[in-house]
Amino acid sequence: MAKRVMNMYGAKRLLFISSLAALAAALILSTGGSCAQALHNPEMLYRRTAGVSLSNPTTDPADFEQHLQIPILLYHEVGEPFSQWEELFVRTADFEKHMKHLRDEGYSCISMKQLAAHWRQDHPLPSRPIVITFDDGYRGNYTNAYPILKELDMTATIYVVEAALGKDNFLTEEMLLCMNRAGFEVGHHSASHRNLTGLHREDLKEEISRSRTRLQKQMQVPITTFAYPAGNYDDAVLEQVQDAGFLSAVTNRPGLASYHQGLLELDRISIYRRHGLESFKQLLQSHLDK
Ligand SMILES: [Zn+2]
Repeated sequence: MAKRVMNMYGAKRLLFISSLAALAAALILSTGGSCAQALHNPEMLYRRTAGVSLSNPTTDPADFEQHLQIPILLYHEVGEPFSQWEELFVRTADFEKHMKHLRDEGYSCISMKQLAAHWRQDHPLPSRPIVITFDDGYRGNYTNAYPILKELDMTATIYVVEAALGKDNFLTEEMLLCMNRAGFEVGHHSASHRNLTGLHREDLKEEISRSRTRLQKQMQVPITTFAYPAGNYDDAVLEQVQDAGFLSAVTNRPGLASYHQGLLELDRISIYRRHGLESFKQLLQSHLDK
């Protein structure tokens, strides 16, 4: 079902992009080709999910080639399984090995906010940027993962489900705030984690916009990034995420995040319990080699 929605969406998107590419070409002709960024890649400026043109038209287009692709890792829980979804529980010892490997390889953790600022406004990033994300807001993010990340001077983005906050096995508000003060970003993962595709407009607003507003008020932190529950989305979901003003959104589609995907449809690399150090290294390398 999800696949069908995605396929339909892909077809429509192609049509949309081709019409926008034509528009971009017309604009370039009408301005005598003076817009360096549009010449660099017309499609970039008019991807609807990019939402805005890059804000500084005088920026050297070459800057944008520095990090056209950035790995965004997707974890759920770190620790021993307490539900039937065992694959989502990465062993704490494995997680530590993953993180030490990234540090030894010279990766620098950045937030989704930094990634969006880089691609929207050419904000500079450290070398070898990577984003560590956690979906659902499980408690082990704080009790098991956070001490390891803190020790290694690394940070992450935590996508929380509003209804789960404070429940058994999930983060409390205090835990989330503690990590946020240490440089972790809070992202939104819907009000209730239901499948967002096929919902009525009002339900979508509740799941995406209103719950985000409540969460921001409760946490007193800006929330500008969204993760689609189970990676499911369609045109209406995308529109709501864009209308709500999110600067970035992540999917569960496997791959490196790329500027060309649009900032509201970014790929991630899912890490599961089966990933010990060697398979983690292989998985990351396989995406980097593509
Ligand atoms: Zn989730």
